[in-house]
Amino acid sequence: MIITDNHMHIYKHLGLKALEEFKSAGGTHVFLVSLLSHHYDVHPKSGHDFKKVFESHLNLVKKANKIVKTYAVLSVHPAEITVLGQRVGYNKAAEIMKEAIDLAGELVAKGEAVAIKSGRPHYKVDAFAWKMSKEVMLHAFKIAREINCAVQLHTESFRLEGMIEIAEMADKVGLKRDKIIKHFAPPKIREFEEIGIFPSVIAGNDNVLTAIKQGTRFVLETDYIDDPKRPGAVLGPKTIPKKVKELLEHGFGEDLIYKICAENIEKIYGIEL
Ligand SMILES: [Zn+2]
Repeated sequence: MIITDNHMHIYKHLGLKALEEFKSAGGTHVFLVSLLSHHYDVHPKSGHDFKKVFESHLNLVKKANKIVKTYAVLSVHPAEITVLGQRVGYNKAAEIMKEAIDLAGELVAKGEAVAIKSGRPHYKVDAFAWKMSKEVMLHAFKIAREINCAVQLHTESFRLEGMIEIAEMADKVGLKRDKIIKHFAPPKIREFEEIGIFPSVIAGNDNVLTAIKQGTRFVLETDYIDDPKRPGAVLGPKTIPKKVKELLEHGFGEDLIYKICAENIEKIYGIEL
């Protein structure tokens, strides 16, 4: 059975052992997302400096692939607007982030990664930082449209108006709404279906059960963070396999699991598992 975690990080708590745990619990496929530049001791002065970030990440994905089937997602995290902005100002920060997205796009076009990650801050920022963040996100949508890839989206907590605004931004540059994957999504499957953005449901609490009762148009993630400073902050690497098995116990068929963990993933990323 294919069991996919759509959004995980490997940092420096369990490291690749986290994927061994995922595998031992029954997990088969994982999407590893790169972290903020400072996690790699990179303090970028231009977008080009993200090369080191992405290369380290692709290296990690290569190693991870020896454990389970792993795909790379290259992230220019929306919080970079604050991290970089404090150092170089928001204008320059946005410019660096856009260049980094171009670089991520080139690597996706070459087949080294399957998607980029962008979005806007999940915390309150001032009006100018917000405006620049939206410009960066729009740029990510343009690049995704050009190379026909998916964008994992990191945003503020789910609000219908916020999601509609983002969907309309995608329309503006001709990016299909279902190429945008809302990371850390609540199990509001019907709402997402109406808007067109694809939810990657965070598998905590009863979310998975709540989601499947509304249909199968979603994927699953833990956002496992692998940070020794925040050990209990998120879900562990075994969560998705465990939750999927719970669904089977509740009487949901393997065909439904296949739709969520395989078919949806293949369609979103344009890959074959
Ligand atoms: Zn994450």
